[in-house]
Amino acid sequence: MRAVHPGCQHGRVGPPASLSSGVGRFVMRVSFDIDDTLVCHSPEALVEIGYLPVRVYRWFGEPLRRGTCSLVSELRRRGCSIWVYTTSGRSRFQVRRWLLLYGIRVDGVVNDDLHRLEMSGLGFSHPPSKYPPAFGIDLHVDDSAGVQMEGEQARFSSCCCSSG
Ligand SMILES: [Mg+2]
Repeated sequence: MRAVHPGCQHGRVGPPASLSSGVGRFVMRVSFDIDDTLVCHSPEALVEIGYLPVRVYRWFGEPLRRGTCSLVSELRRRGCSIWVYTTSGRSRFQVRRWLLLYGIRVDGVVNDDLHRLEMSGLGFSHPPSKYPPAFGIDLHVDDSAGVQMEGEQARFSSCCCSSG
């Protein structure tokens, strides 16, 4: 059982019951932000080359940062569970479908709706923009320095990556 989180007055920390299948099978749950982390829109950004025709990726997805597939594969090999945590308006289905185009299966997706729903029950006076412990996430990767600062304040682990 996880310890009560000091940044949370409610005291319940961990994945919501609807998301908790598979807990215990993995050594670590890692989540990734989307905008400027997995997706880089800069024309100079290096992106993954998929196996499907280019127009399929244009219709159903966005450019995926080069190296994502090998990183996810290595994390899986090391026993990590892979999640996406975005506070954008993308639907969870959309995110799963987009990553499947690149052969990446994720174990969970937190979008803005789910984030807000979970935050409303945690009793924060000023909820952080992201709060990975609410979903049992051990490490969150994000380009935002603000999220990293929130992590230091609310005591969750985050890794800040460059947006380019
Ligand atoms: Mg971002």
